[in-house]
Amino acid sequence: LRSVALGVRPLVAKAARGLLKALLPPRCLKCGEGVEAQGDLCPACWRQIDFIAEPLCEICGLPFAFGAGEGAVCGACARKRPHFDRARAVMRYDQLSRDLILAFKHADRLDAAPVFAAWLGRAGQGLLGNCDALAPVPLHRFRLLSRRYNQAAVLAIELAKRTDKPVLPDLLRRLRATPSQGGLSARERRTNVRGAFAVRHRYRDWVVGRRLLLLDDVMTTGATIEACARALKQAGAASVDALTIARVVHADACTI
Ligand SMILES: [Zn+2]
Ligand SMILES: [Zn+2]
Repeated sequence: LRSVALGVRPLVAKAARGLLKALLPPRCLKCGEGVEAQGDLCPACWRQIDFIAEPLCEICGLPFAFGAGEGAVCGACARKRPHFDRARAVMRYDQLSRDLILAFKHADRLDAAPVFAAWLGRAGQGLLGNCDALAPVPLHRFRLLSRRYNQAAVLAIELAKRTDKPVLPDLLRRLRATPSQGGLSARERRTNVRGAFAVRHRYRDWVVGRRLLLLDDVMTTGATIEACARALKQAGAASVDALTIARVVHADACTI
């Protein structure tokens, strides 16, 4: 099941390289400074991480500057309720988290997966207890070929190891290769990914009434998560939450 979404051979090559790396002294994920354990950050880089903490929008997880009371939602969610039920993220998307995620995605720092999974476990505590299975946002197979692995699937599998939840890397499928979302406005992003995902045929009966937790690396405008949640809800899922490493927070968005 897992090999479908991940590609086994690249992972074997990665594992071999990982083994080699294990013989070398561990290096900070960000700056390369010596650290105690593989996949760690040095104390200086750790301090720079902008972890997202409560108070948050109950729905999309946007951090509020001030406590707004139990169940408060942000202006955007109040105006239009998203298809997903709740989204949470570990940290703000900034230069540091961008570098961390890019290294994880394109370069050679798959050893970050256990640390990322530990962070996801903390940020997603409330969501994990309330789901039947974890599912990554899928990559289109062309992109999967060029990227060699789906970073969201790696996160989902690593997080599943820390919980008793099953992971379904192939629950969703990407119907078309959407152009990169970079440089697009929120509206363009929504149009770009609308209808781009579908529940795979073999899960058609299974998904009815299920509570799913979607995993991805970054939530930018939420358009991709929305498109996935919409496909799952249309297929009959009872609830869809989302958990990401980073989330874009605009400076002017932290008000209700
Ligand atoms: Zn460092
Ligand atoms: Zn919100």
